[in-house]
Amino acid sequence: AGKTYELIAHRTREYWGTVRRIDPASVFEMDRATRPYTFDNVDYETGEIRIAPHTPCPVLLGVRGVDPKILEKAFRMLRIHEPVEFVTIFESNQGTDAHYQKLRIRDLRDGVSAIVEGTVSEHPRTDIGSHVFFKLRDGTGEVFCAAYEPTKSFRKIVLQLIPGDEVIAFGAVKQKPQGLTLNLEKIYVRKLAKKVIRRPPTCPNCGKRMKSLGKRRGYRCKKCGFKLGKEAEEALEVRRQLREGFYEVPPSARRHLTKPLSIEPPTLR
Ligand SMILES: [Zn+2]
Repeated sequence: AGKTYELIAHRTREYWGTVRRIDPASVFEMDRATRPYTFDNVDYETGEIRIAPHTPCPVLLGVRGVDPKILEKAFRMLRIHEPVEFVTIFESNQGTDAHYQKLRIRDLRDGVSAIVEGTVSEHPRTDIGSHVFFKLRDGTGEVFCAAYEPTKSFRKIVLQLIPGDEVIAFGAVKQKPQGLTLNLEKIYVRKLAKKVIRRPPTCPNCGKRMKSLGKRRGYRCKKCGFKLGKEAEEALEVRRQLREGFYEVPPSARRHLTKPLSIEPPTLR
């Protein structure tokens, strides 16, 4: 199973006890670029950065996350205006989500707990037992994601996803009859796709809503017989009810290792 990690940057001795010289704007930039693979970097409610301690200790800063490579990238994004003595990365149990690993879809295996970035590739559907399923795709493959009945209202969130939505899915992967299936524990909706409804045009001759003549065959007015091609269809962009952000299953459906979202900063972007 995966772990969480903490990158610690240490100060040179002559700086101990002085104000830490970290550009706060760079911490916010790092947070936006590396979330949700790092966490607790900033407090969006108070505007404070949380990576630096307030004690006169030799630690300059600490960044927590789920992937050591991303922690290194996060550290390089910080603008630090004092020398750094050395940097260490520790495995940590503090925090949480200790069992997840960031994986591409082709690397998923039965029994792993994964974080998968991808695009919704098929409309969610409710199946027997009121379980909700959809397909998620990345550049390497496709996997089923499931919100089972015990996840209750979380399923209503999942049902609002449409193909093209970009999400990060968190959960345990199991081999099921339909194939490898990620049992959703949390989902980060990163970017919503545009939802467009297509319908027949109104007749330019008499104003009546026209009828489709079938796939790609255009439209005909039942009242006056006027015909239009397929390209005359109306496309309406519909407002999405779903909002970008983090969603998680209710406590009753949560494995005890999963960190509740309520201890993360509530605002993401
Ligand atoms: Zn007409």
